[in-house]
Amino acid sequence: MMFRLCIALSLLWLVSCSGEHASQDVAAPETQRFKWRLVTTWPKNLPGLGTAPVVMADKLKKMSNGRLDIKVYGAGEIVPALEVFDAVSQGTVQMGHGAAYYWKGKVPIAQFFTTLPFGLTAQEMNAWLLHGGGLELWRELYAPFDLRPYPGGNTGVQMAGWFNKEINSLDDIRGMKMRIPGLGGEVFERAGATVVTLPGGEIFTSMQTGVIDATEWIGPYNDLAFGLHQVAKYYYYPGWQEPGSNLEIIVNSRAYDELPDDLKAILDAAIFVANADLLAEYTARNNVALRELIDEHQVEVRRLPDDVLAELKQRSLEAVAGIVDEKPISQRIFASYQTFYDQVIEYHEISERAYINARAGAPTGAVRQPKTLKQ
Ligand code: CA
Repeated sequence: MMFRLCIALSLLWLVSCSGEHASQDVAAPETQRFKWRLVTTWPKNLPGLGTAPVVMADKLKKMSNGRLDIKVYGAGEIVPALEVFDAVSQGTVQMGHGAAYYWKGKVPIAQFFTTLPFGLTAQEMNAWLLHGGGLELWRELYAPFDLRPYPGGNTGVQMAGWFNKEINSLDDIRGMKMRIPGLGGEVFERAGATVVTLPGGEIFTSMQTGVIDATEWIGPYNDLAFGLHQVAKYYYYPGWQEPGSNLEIIVNSRAYDELPDDLKAILDAAIFVANADLLAEYTARNNVALRELIDEHQVEVRRLPDDVLAELKQRSLEAVAGIVDEKPISQRIFASYQTFYDQVIEYHEISERAYINARAGAPTGAVRQPKTLKQ
């Protein structure tokens, strides 16, 4: 037995010697350590959006035994909220957490990867991205910017927003100054409103000082944390403008390529978990926060009138068509989304809707819808 142990130790010594020799110039992949920085478009530690990347970074450090150490920075700590895309693209930092529709001035078609007004829900969006070809198209779209995008959580259906006056017709929207990003903002512009894009951290003060008359943000969980009930009277639903906003995690592709294969797999898996976990967090917290807004802060919750929603839907179809330019990648993204949308709506009429109606004691009948986003 002792003899066997000696042989084993000798072999080990030989192996380690040759390993040492081979690794004189380059550290073995399993010993390389990476210190990364992640910037977000959200205020630091904002519930949900702000805490999700911190939780993910903590998991990554443990899963990689400290080899992938990511420090998370809130909006404005290294770069302003709306410069996250450029900072990761240029490699100033290695990762970012935000939403693709913030980059509409640079890549208009990127808005398809956050949400479309009257578009896919959270469940449907994840299905399109992860199993319907959406993510491959998104990666192709961002490749020229040296960015590798991932779904980075989903808010679920949002609220239509906070207003200081009642909305009884489209006339009430005309002339209003509202913070509403993405295509929802373009729809409001078409309806006669003046639209501004503000990062989350500037919304409360802008409402308080009258720079804007109305705002949408996310849903009860985040809106309560921002104190928006203190600066607006009416809280409208449903969030037609953001029916399932997919957030994004972007990784600088040169930094990604430097990772050994096991760290690449660990990073991919940790982001996948963060994506699923954030939607669960919103689903669990939104209803509790809504109850608090109503019971403790006497917020008036109102439903947008049906005819206003119908008008907004018509304008949404025009706005969506307006961002699909002639580039082949844009055409392919639109075609992929539209095909998936048509198919998933048909099935969800007899599954999700029929079940939710039945659970509520309402007629279960499916509603026929126009099956296409096109005019
Ligand atoms: Ca929103």
